[in-house]
Amino acid sequence: MRVVVVGAGLSGLTAARHIATKSHEVVVLDKGRSTGGRCATRRMGGAVLDHGAQFFTVRSNEFANVADDWLHAGVAREWCRGFGTSDGHPRYCGTNGMTTITKHMARGLDVRCSHMVFSVERRGKGWRVNLDDGSSFEADAVVITSPIPQSMSLLANTNLEIPDGIRTIEYDKTIAALVVVDGDTNIPAPGGVQDGDSTFSFVADNMQKGVSPRRALTFHCNPSFSESNWWNDQESTHATVMSLAAEWIGGATIIEHQPKRWRMATPRTTWHERCWSHDGIFLAGDAFAGPRVEGAVLSGLAAAERVLG
Ligand SMILES: Cc1cc2nc3c(=O)[nH]c(=O)nc-3n(C[C@H](O)[C@H](O)[C@H](O)COP(=O)(O)OP(=O)(O)OC[C@H]3O[C@@H](n4cnc5c(N)ncnc54)[C@H](O)[C@@H]3O)c2cc1C
Repeated sequence: MRVVVVGAGLSGLTAARHIATKSHEVVVLDKGRSTGGRCATRRMGGAVLDHGAQFFTVRSNEFANVADDWLHAGVAREWCRGFGTSDGHPRYCGTNGMTTITKHMARGLDVRCSHMVFSVERRGKGWRVNLDDGSSFEADAVVITSPIPQSMSLLANTNLEIPDGIRTIEYDKTIAALVVVDGDTNIPAPGGVQDGDSTFSFVADNMQKGVSPRRALTFHCNPSFSESNWWNDQESTHATVMSLAAEWIGGATIIEHQPKRWRMATPRTTWHERCWSHDGIFLAGDAFAGPRVEGAVLSGLAAAERVLG
């Protein structure tokens, strides 16, 4: 069976790995320059910063098996057991940033980055996946793991009856800032603050977290700030974010800073099944099994099981 997976985030890579173990021909296509999707790690001014997912938790036995594999492979480790106070539940992160995990998952797979899928159309009993450069892939099954609005536009000309509960899923946005500093900040151990003020949903010190050789901070603005500032001038929004971040930066000297924006950061609602499929098209991703690392992996697993039948 020839399978095309759209998206090399956690969901797509999970699905691809499982399908490939059964000797099927699997190609993973991603429009990004590297794997990971919303698990993203950037290098900047000699620092390393996670700027998408910050950590993951383990809630189900199925995901515990996957997380154990990552821990044994040395690509994930425990970061802490709570931010501020310990609640006893481990928070894990990628050993050298969250993309340590996705790079590990991509190993041995045919993953093609900088490959933007433009549309999916019926071709006899199977499907043709068209790329924006005019090339295409023929497939018996297509697993689509992009955020839902993007998946819907890829399928626009297929006449598939996709339920409204999937079709209408919307996403919260996240405006972020990445800041490399010298000196001590006001971010306490273990280097992460959740909902610490009225602007930021998460503030991270990537050095305390253990992924950066120098002090580098990630600021994620909460959905309400991000929504109300999304359409404002980007430069002045970044200046506002930097001024609001000053309280956390404290006396440290800012060496370098960059804005970052996630237009489709978090699905506001999720579908009640871990994936959806019809006639060789499989929809998966964190909009199905929960808006987090675990949900993306569980959805990828469910899609793979359905593909393998
Ligand atoms: C700012 C932020 C903070 C977060 N923090 C946490 C956290 O601390 N803990 C946690 O558990 N979760 C967190 N999450 C959520 C977590 O990152 C996601 O749930 C998970 O990474 C989603 O994986 P996915 O594979 O479903 O989707 P994605 O990672 O979005 O993967 C989809 C992929 O599809 C690709 N794609 C899209 N369209 C096309 C196309 N047309 N052609 C080819 N490729 C395409 C994209 O490039 C992308 O790589 C956070 C997310 C964000 C944005």
